[in-house]
Parts: sequence; structure tokens; C-alpha cells
Amino acid sequence: MKKRFSYYMPEMDGLSIPEIEAMLAPRLREQLKYCYDSSRYYKEKFKQAGAELGDIQTFEDLRKLPVFMTKEDERACQEESRQKLGHTFGTHLCAPVDELYLTGTTSGTTGVPTFTYTFTKNDLDFLAPRLAHRLALCGVGKGDRGLFCFTLGIYATTMTLWGLRLLGALPIDIDARAGTDTFLKFADLTRPTHLACTPSLALYLIEKCPKMLGYPVSELKLKGLLTTGEPGIANPAIKKTLEESYQCPSFDYWSPAGHAPGISCLSDEYQGLHAIAPEVCTSYFDLIDPISGESVPLEDGAVGQMVHTSLHREACPLVKYAYGDVVKIFLGECPSCGFKGIRAKLVGRADDMLIVKGVNVYPAAVRTEVMKFKPQVTGQMRIVLDSPPPRVEPPLKLKVEYQGNLDQRELDALAEKIAQAVHDTLRMRPKVIMVPEGDLPRHTRKTPVFEKAYE
Ligand SMILES: [Zn+2]
Repeated sequence: MKKRFSYYMPEMDGLSIPEIEAMLAPRLREQLKYCYDSSRYYKEKFKQAGAELGDIQTFEDLRKLPVFMTKEDERACQEESRQKLGHTFGTHLCAPVDELYLTGTTSGTTGVPTFTYTFTKNDLDFLAPRLAHRLALCGVGKGDRGLFCFTLGIYATTMTLWGLRLLGALPIDIDARAGTDTFLKFADLTRPTHLACTPSLALYLIEKCPKMLGYPVSELKLKGLLTTGEPGIANPAIKKTLEESYQCPSFDYWSPAGHAPGISCLSDEYQGLHAIAPEVCTSYFDLIDPISGESVPLEDGAVGQMVHTSLHREACPLVKYAYGDVVKIFLGECPSCGFKGIRAKLVGRADDMLIVKGVNVYPAAVRTEVMKFKPQVTGQMRIVLDSPPPRVEPPLKLKVEYQGNLDQRELDALAEKIAQAVHDTLRMRPKVIMVPEGDLPRHTRKTPVFEKAYE
């Protein structure tokens, strides 16, 4: 029988969304007071917004506040604290610097890394059981072994290892930079029960495993596949490919900015990230339009950029942080597992959004259409940009890898069908450029969505 997904705090089961908001409002007030009293940065932000601390009593009041921080702001306040305070954790650091226990950054591929995942011991003691609960819902428990392939050490994903350990599972943690031969070698040696990695890597191992180990990935006999870091199994073709190849269920999990722990449930159809711990932050409750920055009402089907406000964090708590993830929200009971809380599907990153003839286009949505043409396509694609995003002079150029031997007439027909499918769903017709299998570089971390011809 399928497991009903439950909140980490059982007393939330059965509560409506407004009841959960009301339950958490006192915590919100306490947390905001802590941030206000402990950081000049936040005091100044309240002043700039023309708001008093006492004005924010409820989640609704919080939604009315403007954004206090973006990634650029976070970099700027890190630079300021580095110069003036002798540490790099930002002027929004609210705990004494000698209380810091774990720090994790973003990858820094698009600029100076931000130390968003910085925690005190109390922060991690609070967060780890929630991360563990999320993994327990997908069947991880004592005695399991999780082959964990991400960039480790100072990077964001490292905190998940605390959740695994808390369950009594054994992490086999291998830095993603070690390369696929190393992952596969340790998979063969340690026989993990679960594999955690990006969807890009999970897909790549399907090709690589038979070449390296001489058997298909199904022979790893995994109980579950855990993916995160980029849009993955929300794409039905990716979910199908992974589950058929590995012969096990796949789960999608995330906790952007060390917040908003979310997990998908066991289901033939992907039902989104289930917000199983709303007491961590208000992120699933606070959305803004990615262009105008206006608050988006919390309704079933609402689409907006998540704005993070911590409810429990001492080190670098976030208040009204627009971190860049655009989600679609579902408020109805999950049709697969019966979870009654908020679910979210990741639509894309605000900075990946393109505007083509006035239409907002997210690369993940384009990829969903392209992958409907498997096995004639490999699933690899890139959007070619001739100038910096978001505005694109139409038509959008789309490189798609085809599979097998197709003659020019067949390629033209396939390109036309893909262009039509994208047009039918996304209301813009791309110029599809077919390229042979292997033409687009494979990635073991996140796969880039753009080929920036202007750089
Ligand atoms: Zn569900």
C-alpha cells in the first residue's frame, strides 16, 4: 500500500493551510524580532520598507513586505562583513561567529559563492530530523546505504548527510568531482540501497554503467533513487527512463537555501514536492511574480518565485529572501498519497526564464516537450542564446540531439514535430537544430540549459 505522507510535526496533520499559518504566526513574530535585534542589515531593511516590527503579526502581513534580499544583496553584505567585521558570512549574521557549526555555499559558478547554508549547532539540530523525516518517507532507514554523489565539503548538499546519519543509514559520500568511474566503482564495492545525485548524473550512469561495470544499472538493485539540484523527475520522460532503467522508484527532494524541505511521494505520476515541515520557514506560503515582484495570492495553481523567511534559524536567518526558484503551488490533497499540505512543482529558476514575444518560457518546460520524442531524441538539448537573457529575439534557437541514423528528410520531419509540440504547449515556435548523439557535452552535476553564443 502507498504510504500517506505526513508532516514532521504530527499535530499539523489534519490542519488547514490557514490553521497552520495561525499556528506558526507566534514563531514568525519571535524570529523577526530576533533578526531585527541581532542584525543591522535587517533593521535597516525594515526602515527602508517603512515597516515597524510590530506591523508583522501574521503570514499575510509578511507577504505584504517587499523583498529584503537577493543573491546580489547577499554577496554585497558578505563583502561588507568581510571588510568591516572580519568574516564572510554577511552583515545579516545574527549569531556570534564563533557559534558557527557548519557552512555550505552555492556552487559559485555564476559569481562569488554565497554562504547561505550556514548553521549553528542549534540550527542543525533543528533541521537534521526534518531532513531525516523526508528521507524516511521514501523508505530510507537503519541499515540502508546511501551512495551520495554531489559536490561535498563546503557545498550546500553536505547538510543532507546529517539527515541520513540520523536515520542510522550509512552515507557513502563521494564528491561529484571524483568522476563517474569512481562512483560506479564504489557502487559496485559497497552495494548501496539508495543513490542520491542530480537527475543528469542518474541519466548519465545508465549509459556509463554497462561500459564500466559490464552490467546495467538495474543490477545495482537499488531500493530508491533520490534526485535533486535541477528539474528532473517532474519531467514524465525522465521519471519513466530512470525508473525503468534502475527498476526502482525515484524521488525528488530539495531544501533550497537550507529551507523548505520538500519530497515527492511514491506515485506513477509526479505529484510535486510535499512541504512536510512548514515550521522551518514561510517559503511555500510567500510567492512573488518573478518580473514585477508583486505578491502572488496563495491559491491552488499559483505560480511565483518563492520568498524565504526563516522561522527557526540562528546563524544566517533569511527574511524575505528572493532566492530565484519559481514554483507552481498545489493546495488540494495529493491524489496519490493523501498528503493534505502544500505541494510545489519547480517551474524553473527566475534567472533561467526567457521572454519570447511576450511569453515567459522556462527551459524545463521546453525539455519536457523535447523528451516526449524519446527514443528518437537522446533527451540532451540546449537553448542557444545570441544575447543575454531574458529577452530573446524570435525564433528561439533550440539544439536537440537525435538518436540513431536518420536521413535529412527524417531529421527535418522530427525537427518540425518538436517545434510544433513546443508551440502547442508554450505558444512560441522554436527553430529546432538537430545534432547527432554525443554532440552536446554530458555533465555529472547540473546540465546547463543554455549555450551562450554571445560570450
Ligand atoms: Zn503525495
